[in-house]
Formats: sequence, structure tokens, C-alpha cells
Amino acid sequence: MLEKTGIATREMVMNVFPSIERINRGPVAVIECFQNIPCNPCQTACRFNAINIGDDINNLPELSPEKCTGCAICLSKCPGLSIMIVDGSKSQETVLIKLPYEFSPLPVEGSTVQGLNRAGEYIADAKVVGVLNPKSFDKTPVVTIEVDRKYLYYIRNIRVEV
Ligand code: SF4
Ligand code: SF4
Repeated sequence: MLEKTGIATREMVMNVFPSIERINRGPVAVIECFQNIPCNPCQTACRFNAINIGDDINNLPELSPEKCTGCAICLSKCPGLSIMIVDGSKSQETVLIKLPYEFSPLPVEGSTVQGLNRAGEYIADAKVVGVLNPKSFDKTPVVTIEVDRKYLYYIRNIRVEV
């Protein structure tokens, strides 16, 4: 499926999501890196040793959710835009999702954008609650959206209407 369409299956995605108990305790990374390529900036960037690739740089990264603070540094360093941060600790109705967003224009904080699934299809509106674009993120801005909990496992991107 991934090789044919470029879209991860539901099973692949669910395998890399931390437990809902962990998500409800605070921000944590979701690493959707499914191909054995020589790459490891996520591991190098994490000062909490929450990502392990091991001796073979072609290994897939493994996250230790209990070590992860949700700081989003790895998200900004991943060339594949494979990492997002999810946080279910703020509300029982909604979740916060931090996404890498390398398009222009950037969304404006407080605005509503279209939440897209992994196939790029619209699934629900999302509220933009934060936009970070510091120099240290090296041109990978991070957008935080708030969405209904039922979309936690489905939203993977946004579209900004201009
Ligand atoms: S979000 Fe921060 S703590 Fe978690 S894996 Fe990424 S760099 Fe490490
Ligand atoms: S930096 Fe991104 S693409 Fe590279 S191994 Fe880590 S998650 Fe995968």
C-alpha cells in the first residue's frame, strides 16, 4: 500500500501512535517513518534520548513515549515531515496537533483551516492555536491546530484557504 500510493495504512499508523493514556497526559511525538532509509536527524536532535535508531542508520526510528516531552525539536528537523506532536491533556473534547507546514502563506493564529487526512482529503475544520517559525526550525514552521478528538488518528495535514 505505502509503495503503491505513498499513503500509510491505518494499521501502520496505529502501530506508531502512543497509547491514548500517554497522549492524554501531555504532548508526545508520533513518528510516521515507514521506510528503511539512511536518515537519523530525529535521533540526533532529541536531547531526551526518546528516539532510537540504533547502529544501522537504515533502521526505523523507535520512540520511547515515556521519555518524550513533546518539545517538537525532532519534528522541525525531520526532512521527511514524518513527525507530528499530539496532546490530549488540555480538553476532553479536543486534541492539539502540531504539524510541520512548509507551504506559503502560513496560517494565522486564531483562524480556521481545513484539516486533511493522509490522502490529502478534507475531513474537518481545525482551529489554528499556534504558529512557530523560529530560525532554529530551519524553514520548517510548526502549526498547532485544535480539533475534535474523533479526528485524532486521521488529521495529518492542513490546507490554508487564500
Ligand atoms: S518531541 Fe522532543 S522529546 Fe519527543 S522525541 Fe521529539 S525531540 Fe525528543
Ligand atoms: S528524521 Fe524523519 S525521515 Fe529521518 S529517520 Fe527520523 S523520522 Fe525518519
